[in-house]
Formats: sequence, C-alpha cells, structure tokens
Amino acid sequence: MSHFLLPRLEKLAPYVPGEQPQDRAYIKLNTNENPYAPSPKVLEAIRQNASTLNRYPDPTALRLRAALAKEHGICMENVMVGNGSDEVLAFAFMAYADEEHPATFPTVSYGFYKIFAKLFRAQPHMIPLNGDFSIPVDRFCHAGKAVVLANPNAPTSLAMPLADIRRIVESNPQHPVLVDEAYIDFGGESALPLLTQYPNLLIVRTFSKSRSLAGGRLGYALASEAMIQDLQRVKDSFNPYSINTLTLQAGIAALEDPAYFQDCVERIRVQRDQTAQELRALGFEVLPSATNFLFAKPPKLGGEAYYLRLKARGVLVRYFAAPTLEAHVRISIGTPEEMAELVRITKELVKEETP
Ligand SMILES: *Cc1c(COP(=O)(O)O)cnc(C)c1O
Repeated sequence: MSHFLLPRLEKLAPYVPGEQPQDRAYIKLNTNENPYAPSPKVLEAIRQNASTLNRYPDPTALRLRAALAKEHGICMENVMVGNGSDEVLAFAFMAYADEEHPATFPTVSYGFYKIFAKLFRAQPHMIPLNGDFSIPVDRFCHAGKAVVLANPNAPTSLAMPLADIRRIVESNPQHPVLVDEAYIDFGGESALPLLTQYPNLLIVRTFSKSRSLAGGRLGYALASEAMIQDLQRVKDSFNPYSINTLTLQAGIAALEDPAYFQDCVERIRVQRDQTAQELRALGFEVLPSATNFLFAKPPKLGGEAYYLRLKARGVLVRYFAAPTLEAHVRISIGTPEEMAELVRITKELVKEETP
C-alpha cells in the first residue's frame, strides 16, 4: 500500500474469491461455477465474432437486452446489463447508497454487499439470520433504507417464499429493494411476477452460474424503467463499454439454446439432491438447497478440518471462518464423477474419525 491511498480504502477488506491454487490438479467445488462448458452455440458465436474486435462493443447492448426482455416476457426498457452481476450490484450501490443513504442486508449473505456499501461510503446495517439460517423477514419490512437480499441466499442455499419477498418490497415503497437471484434457475421462486407492480423492485441476475459463463462476465438487472435508467446513468458515467463484444454475443447465443441450458440445470439439480442424500447418510446436516451448492455440516469434524482434509486429497470446497458458519462448508455441485470422488473421500475421512 502506498501512503497516497485514501484512509477509507486502507481500512476496506476486499472480497476474497474462492482460491485457485496451481500446485496440483484439484476437483474445484469452491466457487459455484457450472461444471459444464458453455453451449456449442456460444462457442460458435465467439468464433464468428472475434474478427470484429477492432470495433467497440454496442454500449446499449441492444440485441442482448432484447433477447433478455423476450426471455423474461418484459420490455427492453426494463433490462440493463453489466460486466458480471458484481458490476450490476456495484452500479446499484453507486446509484442508491452513500453517507446519507444506508443499506441493510443479512449478516450472512453474499460478501460483496458489505464491501460495496463501504466502498461507496454507505453504512451497512447488517441483520443476523435466524438460528435456522432463514431470513428474519419482519426485520426487513419497513426498513426505512435500501434493502439487499440474495434469494436463494448464499452460502446457506435457502430460498425465501415469494410472499415474503412481496411483503418486504411492498413495505418499503420509498426505498429500493434489490433481490439478487444469482441461483434462481436452480430453485426458489423468482420475484419477476412482482416487477410490474412495484417500481422499487430491482432484480439482479447472472450468466455465471446456470448459463456456464462465469469467465465471460455477464450479469443483468430487471426493474422498472426509471430504476433501469438510474443504473444506466451510472454505467454510462463509469464505463459504457464494460461488456466486451464476445461476451455480448455469447450471452445472446446462450439464450438461443434453451435446451442446453435446461439440460445442464437439470443435471446439476439431480446431482445436488443425490449428493445431499449421500452426505446425510454419512451423518452430515445438509440444508435444503435451492442452488447449485450444498451448505453442509460434517459429523465430528469442524468445517475447517473437513475443508483442509479434502484439500489435502485434491478437493476444494469453501470454508467460512465466521462464528455462525464455521461448522459448515459450502460445496459446489460438479459433474457426477467429481461428486462421486467427493463422497468417496468423505467416507474415508468420516471413517478415520470413527474409532
Ligand atoms: C456468484 C454470485 C454473484 C456474482 O456473479 P457474477 O455475475 O459472476 O459477478 C452475485 N451474487 C451472488 C449471490 C452470487 O453467488
């Protein structure tokens, strides 16, 4: 750090992505990526458009936004896109949170909310989850400030009923309510049906998980026309070209191959339920997942010990050192072969612990 850095930023703890160690080959179940490659149509679209990289991308992302509007049965004016949903979330914080405009979200949720709040000088009001890891819905009603929720939530994997989302959105008419639906294609109820009724609802989604495009960096917002204009205003004041040409084309092509998408999502859901069952049979507590990952508490071993022993045997999962989370690990759903290996090694580890 140089001594020029603003003191505010010196105190900021940046986001720590899931580790990507290079010392050996790992089965990577620690960043909730899709284990399946993008659709062949996506690969073809990237090949076909590479020769246009001398030109700037379309800053309005017209064709992609039209495709997303069609996909969700809404108007293009209700859609904006960004470089990953992380960027869309950042634009939302830039647009709606600062010193005088705090934001509230659960203590346990996507780690970036707190970091963005601090980066953009807003006070983060963090509300602890209930003992069963569910969201204390009443505490987000009449919040009197911007609300940010992930549904399904991470890393708990739990989905909130649509009725609860509606209560929160309806009771905060003077404040934006952001619902991060990064995992919605794997389970849970989308807030999309509420969009036409509530001008304060902002839904954020990503191509990173269900659409196999984490490396492409593509996310989007669905909201009232006025809120979309807010976000677009921030984007155009920061980086109008934030989505590169190939990713724009990849996104359009991904939407044009629904069969591939549905097949990948279904495989992951089936594998998720199977692995959850297998882990429960070994004595794990596994929360009912509406996502592409499991939040699981191993028997006898703490979360950290289980994580370290898996890593020593070539399997990466995510461990969180927070007091309410340290008994658990988060396991992304991989291919059937990868999950079979996880279960095989886990059986050995559990056996080692049973004298
Ligand atoms: C993965 C994830 C994101 C970030 O997705 P990108 O589109 O890759 O930036 C946002 N929110 C939640 C809850 C996530 O799990």
